[in-house]
Amino acid sequence: MKVLSVNAGSSSLKFQLYEMPEEKVLISGLMERIGIGNSFYTIKINGKKIKKEKELDNHATAFKVLVDELKENKVVDSLDDIKAIGNRVAQGGDYFDKSVVIDDDVLDKINELSCFAPLHNPAAVVAIKAAKQVFPNALQTAVFDTAFHKTMPKENYLYALPYSWYTDYKVRRYGAHGTSHKYVAQRANELLGRNDTKLITCHIGNGASISAVLNGKCINTSMGLTPNAGLIMGTRCGDIDASIIPYMMEKTGMSAKDIDKAINKESGLLAISRKSSDSRDIEDGIAQGDENCILAQKMYVRRITDYIAKYYVEMQGCDAIVFTAGIGEKSIDTRRDVLNELKVLGVKLDNEANNVKGEERLISAPDSSIKCYVIPTDEELMIARDTYELAK
Ligand code: ADP
Repeated sequence: MKVLSVNAGSSSLKFQLYEMPEEKVLISGLMERIGIGNSFYTIKINGKKIKKEKELDNHATAFKVLVDELKENKVVDSLDDIKAIGNRVAQGGDYFDKSVVIDDDVLDKINELSCFAPLHNPAAVVAIKAAKQVFPNALQTAVFDTAFHKTMPKENYLYALPYSWYTDYKVRRYGAHGTSHKYVAQRANELLGRNDTKLITCHIGNGASISAVLNGKCINTSMGLTPNAGLIMGTRCGDIDASIIPYMMEKTGMSAKDIDKAINKESGLLAISRKSSDSRDIEDGIAQGDENCILAQKMYVRRITDYIAKYYVEMQGCDAIVFTAGIGEKSIDTRRDVLNELKVLGVKLDNEANNVKGEERLISAPDSSIKCYVIPTDEELMIARDTYELAK
């Protein structure tokens, strides 16, 4: 069965077409600048990369162009060869604890939850409607970034705020990156050869979160109502004293919107390094002795180890720490700095094994108390697997 996995942004469309259940990628690509002019797309097929410039006025046009490419490259004969489309949806709120087939009610709920994911959920709705127009006979599913975190106990998802904020406004911890945490946790359990495990999964990219996964189920995660909570990120501050916000609003006259921009787009590594949000630039800065970059990296690493320590205690131990996403997979220095801070727990890094980028590998020494792995994430594959299960 051919299953299309879709991750839509407001002006982009990332896709992979799989032959399932073989999990073979037939074609993958990214369409950019949809609806904002000068659009283009890149497609990877049979190891070849094709880049084309083409006006893509909206997501429906993007899907049509995708179909033309699939036909031209003889990946499919007709539209109906694509039996199911899996859509990544950022926020599933309290409604969804697993992937579901999309009907009108599901679509309404995704729309309603846009208040918690104002950039992402509306883009998913647009893409789902556009796909329905172009592929009227395909089954469509929603795979939620929050679903894996729905197993968190109440003491971990509730905030110590007025209770009516939770009951009336649904203010609680939802988490994010759930599809990625689930994928790497499953893979770690395969590598460990059992499922009764205590895992700490670190999805550290431009956005970053850490989860505690006990016996395959998420019991805690660092992101909150929104992705702003928890770790220091490229441009997000992560955990702060909440009273800083009213203080700065009163002092400067900043609006809620201004604050939102400051804490999501102007903070994090970018703010402290005063140079860049990209961990590669921070590493270059450190090599040149840049004090701001050195400080940014110290703060960044400290926050990660804070969360690992917290979850270690919560699970009363840990069998494996997993690193994934851009920085987790590729930053040798960040992994080294984090794991060296955990020596007190008996963690021992194998420096030679750690010299790896984007490849699955055990990076801890044989006598380390906790196994440490790099496991490249594959959210698209998770989307295709869930979609196939619902469609077969
Ligand atoms: P997103 O959250 O946008 O999906 P990614 O998981 O793709 O992010 O991670 C992107 C980040 O990964 C970049 O901002 C950069 O900080 C980091 N990164 C990518 N490649 C490397 C590398 N070779 N070394 C260190 N950091 C890297």
